[in-house]
Amino acid sequence: MDRSQLHIAILSSPGMGHLIPVLVLGNRLAAHYNIKITILAITTSSSSAETEFLKKSTLTNEKKTIEIIPIPSVDISHLINSSTKVFTQLRLLVREALPKIHSTIASMTHRPDALIVDIFCTQILPIAEEFNIPKYAYHPTTAWTLTLAIYCQIFDKEIEGEYVDLKEPLKIPGSKELRPDDVVDPLLDRSDQQYEEYLKLGMEYAAFDGILINTWEDLEPETIKALRNNEKLRSILKVPVFPIYPVGPLRRTVETNEPDEVIEWLDKQNNKSVLFVSFGSGGTLSTQQMTELAWGLELSQQKFVWIVRPPSDGDADSAYLNSAGKETRGMPKYLPEGFLTRTKDIGLVVPMWAKQVEILGHSSVGGFLTHCGWNSTVESLTNGVPMIAWPLYAEQKMNAALLTEELGVAIRPAVLPTKKLVKREEIKGMVRMLMYTKEGKTIREKAQKLKMSAENALSVGGSSYNSICELVKDIQSRLL
Ligand code: UDP
Repeated sequence: MDRSQLHIAILSSPGMGHLIPVLVLGNRLAAHYNIKITILAITTSSSSAETEFLKKSTLTNEKKTIEIIPIPSVDISHLINSSTKVFTQLRLLVREALPKIHSTIASMTHRPDALIVDIFCTQILPIAEEFNIPKYAYHPTTAWTLTLAIYCQIFDKEIEGEYVDLKEPLKIPGSKELRPDDVVDPLLDRSDQQYEEYLKLGMEYAAFDGILINTWEDLEPETIKALRNNEKLRSILKVPVFPIYPVGPLRRTVETNEPDEVIEWLDKQNNKSVLFVSFGSGGTLSTQQMTELAWGLELSQQKFVWIVRPPSDGDADSAYLNSAGKETRGMPKYLPEGFLTRTKDIGLVVPMWAKQVEILGHSSVGGFLTHCGWNSTVESLTNGVPMIAWPLYAEQKMNAALLTEELGVAIRPAVLPTKKLVKREEIKGMVRMLMYTKEGKTIREKAQKLKMSAENALSVGGSSYNSICELVKDIQSRLL
């Protein structure tokens, strides 16, 4: 190994939604700066998609500048019960994996020059300090959610009762106001363990040498500015100045050209005629909601590709950490009777998983009904695809608000899908508006404009490009 080469280790928490952005970040650093990247991927025993993805990523990494070291899964069953939320579980999975992470770093012959850790891995701080390695946190979503995570310490002291019961929006200096209905899941119930974990996360963030965000200057100019200049916030929180690196939009590029049923189907459709429907790597709908969505799509008579997974009447993210063992073959049995036959000429239903990046980049796709997971959102924005925002869990309600109210590239149901059943007529109306109507035209045009803005951010001199240069410079300046 070339010891003069900069070496960065990136730690990823479990789940495809975390692993994917970490790999993308690693690729970007490795490709642009010839940096040696080691990805420490905390795995779970139950996610077969993750294991497959890791194997493939290792195979396609021909340059060998990226090494992927899976951190074996840990057992947290004795620490959780049936009501433990995914957010808490992810924090626990990382906490329990800390000894393995420690021994992995200790055994590296070429110790990393810097550590970048994703959102659930901020608990690694003492290890980074012990090894005296500069440490950066990677917040894989928006600047707006980062301000909330940090500012939450203040809300915790100033606000009494539940945030969701507030009559007024929550105000974060320099940021868009946050409606109580849109708060992130960990803030929904202050007596739940995930609330405490979220507060800790915000405090840990502030102790890093810098924070990378998967956003770009033109997407959230005011919030990024506020994060950079918010001396008042820092003095209240008693935290030092930490640089902000808007390195986004980080998104996967098309990886394979293998024949694929969905792509072949899309090849036969008209330009921008297809609505893509997907709820991320683990989002599920209730049985009743699934029926309404199926009817809404059928009534709209719009061409569609729908990635379905079995309905769940529990939490919408209940499949997030256990997607293995579920039905992956055969036509889904949980759709309305006759739906597949009646829609066979307009739609394609795919169980569990499809190549989303390839689909969103296909010229036949003209709209995306999405759960607003940030990776999915970025993949849509960078392809200029307008959205129907259907948030389910985590920070997705904030993403939906940003997309609809601030950026104007999406529409959403009148009432949040997490609060009320979205009926078939409303779904039909939204689909037709997004894909056809005059009102939808402005949204479609704005989506195209944002695609250009994303390309600018990534090009030489753009905000993403500059942020990565500044990050590398900062790491180099800290070398002993
Ligand atoms: N994804 C995919 N195929 C699927 C479902 C999801 O490739 O059938 C990818 C998607 O492209 C995105 C990631 O999985 O990169 C999901 O991340 P996101 O942040 O959107 O949502 P999460 O799954 O974390 O809720």
